[in-house]
Amino acid sequence: MNMIEAIKGRIDTFHRVLDEIIELRYVGDPILRQQAQIVDVAEGKIIGSQLGEILLRYRGITGTGRGLAAPQIGLNRAVFVTFVDGKLQTFINPTIVERSAQTNFYRELCISTGIMAADVERPERIIMEWTDIEGGKHHEKIEEFLARLYQHEEAHLRGKLNLDEAAPGGIEFATFNPLKEQLRKTR
Ligand SMILES: [Zn+2]
Repeated sequence: MNMIEAIKGRIDTFHRVLDEIIELRYVGDPILRQQAQIVDVAEGKIIGSQLGEILLRYRGITGTGRGLAAPQIGLNRAVFVTFVDGKLQTFINPTIVERSAQTNFYRELCISTGIMAADVERPERIIMEWTDIEGGKHHEKIEEFLARLYQHEEAHLRGKLNLDEAAPGGIEFATFNPLKEQLRKTR
């Protein structure tokens, strides 16, 4: 498929998302630029289930999408969800407390940046703390793809988007297959 056709395909899918998932917010919306507020577990759990339901609807249309953060549905709250290995997981008040010096690159898509992708350099490994929906406290070392995913979602809670953090020259139309994307040591 040539690039024009691939871009049109992305636009068609994005058009369906715009029509069918009215809760979503997009780059340019000020809510995506705010610092998210800490929540209690009860509120975090409710927001987590809303996010999970919307992420599954998004996946139903696109076949992709591994995370969604509260600001992306207009809620200025420190909660995100992930969908990995067929399972939704909610992260309440996540904070990254350590970042490795080693970094890698990955072309990130984002539900809030539509048909654009950004090649972003991020630490390979992190230590993240969060609360789960039962109120359990976590302090875990995260690496590989999950480190990438969690950092992308946590950045939403600080008002940052993948496009902001793109490597120089690293913004493109998302015409590649995101399911085949790999972490890389270099650009
Ligand atoms: Zn995103």
